[in-house]
Amino acid sequence: MASLGIPQNTIQILQKYRFNFQKKYGQNFLIDTHVLDKIMEASEITDRDFVLEIGPGIGTMTQYLCERARAVAAVEIDKSLIPILSDTLSAYDNVEIIQEDVLKLDLNRLVREKNDGKPIKVVANLPYYITTPIIMGLFENRVPVERITVMVQKEVADRMQTGPGSKDYGALSLAVQYYAKPEIIANVPPNCFMPRPNVGSAVIRLTRHTKPPVSAKDEDLMFRLIRASFNQRRKTLANGLRNANDLNLTKEQIEESLSELAVPAAIRGEALTLAQFAELSDIIGRKILEKNHGI
Ligand code: SAM
Repeated sequence: MASLGIPQNTIQILQKYRFNFQKKYGQNFLIDTHVLDKIMEASEITDRDFVLEIGPGIGTMTQYLCERARAVAAVEIDKSLIPILSDTLSAYDNVEIIQEDVLKLDLNRLVREKNDGKPIKVVANLPYYITTPIIMGLFENRVPVERITVMVQKEVADRMQTGPGSKDYGALSLAVQYYAKPEIIANVPPNCFMPRPNVGSAVIRLTRHTKPPVSAKDEDLMFRLIRASFNQRRKTLANGLRNANDLNLTKEQIEESLSELAVPAAIRGEALTLAQFAELSDIIGRKILEKNHGI
């Protein structure tokens, strides 16, 4: 089968199967071999790797993955793409197509069954409407993943990679950076896809930390603090924390905690580093404990 990265070959397949693009599934198929080569290079797949591809479409990138990996599992929600994938991937015996919503699939089980629970690589041109739940789901559900190399909306890639002081900095930056090292590999213009998306895209590589870069005693509390402080961007950190119903902190507890952290009382959440959020969660965690024990 000739490469589907060449636009004429993609058009031929789409016409052969009279395929109708489904906007609701974020279908923008890659038609640029240079971009595909870059994704392969960044993902550093070897013949020992088990690769999970999310949303194979008509199998353009899947063909590249099958050439390089030991085995590939490709999860596609759109039923009408399954017969097309059987055709475009017929030359490969190391690929399994799973027709399912990736957000409903038990990926831990898949890794146990297909890779003895050892870390896998994820490679995808993601459906943009669910980029964050897919990536956060992989991290928060502790799916054994060594590296995630994905095409995402440019703006989302910037949010994942940036630090304090930038307008793009927020809960997603902190969450991604807690779990992985993000690197933007390439910016990709709309004309590399069919149909063209309305936004710019970027390939980002997230290499999982073996150990988180900061240590918070209560990881869950740290992420609740992060979410609370970015829920109300224009407010101060103290107000954000005060208004978070799930935290239940008093004004005094918050003031004392910020003073202990040695930051100004009127500081905004977007000025805090990941290390400071970890420290703040340890301070607040201790205050909650003290209060519960009547100290
Ligand atoms: N990998 C192909 C390529 O690069 O040409 C297609 C990428 S396209 C941006 C996203 C793909 O994800 C589509 O094939 C779409 O049907 C699929 N998709 C959308 N939502 C999904 C979900 N919840 N679970 C699995 N696949 C999904």
